[in-house]
Amino acid sequence: MSALTRSTPIYLDYNATAPVRPEAVAAVIDALSAAGNASSPHSPGRHAADRVAHARAQLAALLNCEPKEIIFTSGATEANNLALRAAHSSRRRLVTSTVEHPAVLETARDLTSADPGNLVLLPVDADGLVDLAELTHVLGSGDVGLVSLMCANNETGVLTDLGPVVAAAHAAGTLVHTDATQLIGRLPIDLAELDVDLLSLSAHKFGGPQGVGALFVRRDAAMPYRPLITGGGQERGWRAGTLNVAGITGLGAAAEAARHTLADEAAHIIQLRNELETAITTTIPESRINGRTSPRLPGVSSITFPGAPADAVMSAMPHIAVSDGSACASGAPTPSHVLLAMGLSRDHADSTLRYSLGYATTHGHITTAAAATAHAVREVRAAMAGGTPLPD
Ligand code: PMP
Repeated sequence: MSALTRSTPIYLDYNATAPVRPEAVAAVIDALSAAGNASSPHSPGRHAADRVAHARAQLAALLNCEPKEIIFTSGATEANNLALRAAHSSRRRLVTSTVEHPAVLETARDLTSADPGNLVLLPVDADGLVDLAELTHVLGSGDVGLVSLMCANNETGVLTDLGPVVAAAHAAGTLVHTDATQLIGRLPIDLAELDVDLLSLSAHKFGGPQGVGALFVRRDAAMPYRPLITGGGQERGWRAGTLNVAGITGLGAAAEAARHTLADEAAHIIQLRNELETAITTTIPESRINGRTSPRLPGVSSITFPGAPADAVMSAMPHIAVSDGSACASGAPTPSHVLLAMGLSRDHADSTLRYSLGYATTHGHITTAAAATAHAVREVRAAMAGGTPLPD
């Protein structure tokens, strides 16, 4: 392995964060080079406000919604918190799924901590699909205030068919929120058609900077207004605090770039993902793709390598940047709740890697990553068995 490959890893972790698109880098630098608080009435302030208005229009064009339906936040974690805390009513039940991101799951648990019976977690099947029959059954009780289901799972890429969810929920007088963090900029979305009331997103998943995101709130959603952060009344009172003009400008530029290139990119990325999966499953015995038969995001592949713990495999191929599914933000790794919910054993969940591809992934990256994985898994399996690996 050359020093060059060591120092420039192949980046296949777009679901953690995508490389910032050049258009967004340029927009951020341009915005940072000018002074101006978007709330100030003088001309530098008005220029800053113009940048924010432009970014709002760029994002609205990607989502096909009205600019005034967008509230800028610090990311999807805040957007999910804002959505759930505004739309949940303590007198009604909150329905979500077992495979949501912690930003939804933990918020839902917090909101229902006084009465845990008010939280319904829909199960998923072995393919990662939410049980929609169970949803219809739960909605039949007439006491559900909010349904929150993600568009696309961050670990497996499995997509939720939200059209029927929205129809059933609205028929029952229930609001619908979706965490669309992994879908935005990767697959098209049309909020004139998909009638969700609330939608969360984060710029850094589609080529914008980290630390900025948005919540879409449909203009006629029947919802109490309940900001998380009160203060100077920015964002129509929904989210106080000086606007992050540079971050928002970068988000807008990334949204615009994604809107123009998304269709071509998605087709290309699916091809690369299929190549990766074929190369890996044909060279690594017993490897298994999670959610393989379900509709999935183009660039995500969650693969289990029984007998090869993910942390050891990752250490054996340090020049390939992928993710193990574990949540270890707190320093104590726990197995992926998503994979466990799909019925994987703890051992298999701990032996799973997530590859996530994106707009800058190349054929060369895929060939190298597949070969490196085959080598690393063979090495780790041999070490676990106390032997030496067979030659590649
Ligand atoms: N929801 C999903 C599905 C995600 O993948 C993430 C990021 N991993 C988030 C929410 C939170 O996004 P952020 O950390 O940017 O707030």
